[in-house]
Amino acid sequence: MDEEFWKKKLSEEEYRVLRQKGTEAPFTGRYVSTHDQGVYRCAGCGEELFTSESKFDSGCGWPSFDAALPGGKVVEEADRSHGMVRTEITCGKCGGHLGHVFDDGPTPTGLRYCVNSVSVKLEPGDEK
Ligand code: FE
Repeated sequence: MDEEFWKKKLSEEEYRVLRQKGTEAPFTGRYVSTHDQGVYRCAGCGEELFTSESKFDSGCGWPSFDAALPGGKVVEEADRSHGMVRTEITCGKCGGHLGHVFDDGPTPTGLRYCVNSVSVKLEPGDEK
């Protein structure tokens, strides 16, 4: 998929975050406080990435999950931009930028997947 494909397919904000590794402003995303059940899919390619079962209120201003779906659907990469060392998370299928994962999570997994709302779409449904 080239950049022209994504520019046509995605909204401006989706393109900025998913393809240009942008970040939405905290507490502005549509899924920050969502507790609806279902599967969160990649807003770029539709791949299943997270379930509502793993979502928790982190207070950080972005939707947060304590686990990704298994099978390499979410890929981790070192990110040394902005003078910080962080772990970027991307969609394993289309490479779209999702956010970052931190090891300060409050649940037993110890992980906090901090995801831009615009990078995902909730497909309502039962828990898996
Ligand atoms: Fe994707």
